[in-house]
Amino acid sequence: MTRLAVAAGAVNLAQGFPDFAAPSFLKEAAAEAIAANHNQYPITWGIPPLRDAIAYKYQQTYGIELDPAREITVVCGATEGMVATLLATVNAGDEVIVFEPYYENYHPDLQLCGGVRRIVTLQAPDWTFDKEELRRAFNSKTKAIIINTPNNPTGRVFSREELEFIAALCVEHDALCITDEIYEHIVYDGAVHVPVMSLPGMRERAVIVNSMSKTYSVTGWRVGWVAAAPDLTDSIRKVHDFLTVGAATPLQYAGVTALRQPESFYGHLAVEYVQRRDQLIQILTEAGFRCFRPSGAYYVMTDISGFGFPDDVKFVRHMIDKVGLAAVPGSSFFSRPELGKNYVRFCFCKKPETLEAAAAKLRAGQLYY
Ligand code: PLP
Repeated sequence: MTRLAVAAGAVNLAQGFPDFAAPSFLKEAAAEAIAANHNQYPITWGIPPLRDAIAYKYQQTYGIELDPAREITVVCGATEGMVATLLATVNAGDEVIVFEPYYENYHPDLQLCGGVRRIVTLQAPDWTFDKEELRRAFNSKTKAIIINTPNNPTGRVFSREELEFIAALCVEHDALCITDEIYEHIVYDGAVHVPVMSLPGMRERAVIVNSMSKTYSVTGWRVGWVAAAPDLTDSIRKVHDFLTVGAATPLQYAGVTALRQPESFYGHLAVEYVQRRDQLIQILTEAGFRCFRPSGAYYVMTDISGFGFPDDVKFVRHMIDKVGLAAVPGSSFFSRPELGKNYVRFCFCKKPETLEAAAAKLRAGQLYY
C-alpha cells in the first residue's frame, strides 16, 4: 500500500511509521556513537550497556528483574525478534495460537518454522475473545500462544484478567506465551499495559518481543530485543546470530540513551498520540466510516460496509486512485480474505497536518460505490 500510495501521490495512512522527526536527543546520541567509532560488529546478542539499559527499564517500569547477561538478546527489530523466537522454539507440526485479526507477519513467521497456526477470534466491536474458544484451542500439540497487546490492528489492550486467564492455560498446557509488546507505551483512556511475564507462573514461560521502533519513533533503525529465561534465550541467541549477527552498533549505543529516559517521556508520547487518535476518528467519522475506538497502539480499524463496495481491497484501491488517500485493507489481518472484507485500517502516527491533508482528500473525494 505504501508503494501504491507513493506511485499515486496519495496521503499515506497505511503503513505504521511516523512522518515526524525522531527525538533530538536520540539522533544526537546516534551521531556521537558513529563519531566515537562504534562502527564494527557488536557482540551478537547486543552491546552490554544496551542490555543493562533494557534490564533497568523493565525493573523500573514493571518490577521485572532480567539478567542482562543471560536473558536479553538485542535483535534487528521486533520483526527479527519474533521470527528468531519462533524458529528457536517451534518445531514442524507444533501448534501456535494466534488471535485474529493479527499483525500480518505472524503467519509467514510460522510458515518459516513449519508451525501450525491455530486461530482464536477477537470479536468486534470490542475485540474481546471467547474464553471457551481459547480453552478449546489449547491441546497437547500447543507449543505457544502469540499475544500482541496493545494490539495491531484493533487497538485493543488486553486486560489483566484476560491475560491471567491466558497465563493459566499456558501453565496448564506447558505452553510458551510470546508477547509482542511494541506498543506498550501507546495507551489511552486509562488503559494499562500488563506484560504477561509479570504474572504468576509466567516468568519462565513468557518471551517478551519489543523494539525501539514505535516508542522512540525510529522504525528504520531496526533495533529491538527479546527477553526470556536463560534456556530460551540460549536458543534464541543461536538463531539470531545466524540470521543477522546483530543490530547496527551505533544505533544500539543510541538505544542506551533511549531506554534510560525518565517516565515523563512515555507520558508525553501517549498524550501526543491521544490527540492524533481523536483527530483521525473525527475525520473518519465525518467521512462516513464507522470507527472502532482504540485504547492503544496507533491505528483505527474502521467498518466500510456503509460505502457499498464489494470488498476492502477494491475500496482501498479506489481510495488511493480516486480520493488520494491510502490505508490497509482489513483482509491483510485475517486468515481468510472474506473475514476482513468490511474492514480498513488507518494509522495516525502522523503530523497533524498530514491528518488534515487526509481530511481534505476525504472532503473532496467520492467514497461511495
Ligand atoms: N509487531 C507489531 C505488532 C507491529 O505493528 C510492528 C510494526 O508495525 C512490528 C512488530 C514490527 O516491529 P519492528 O519495526 O521493531 O520490526
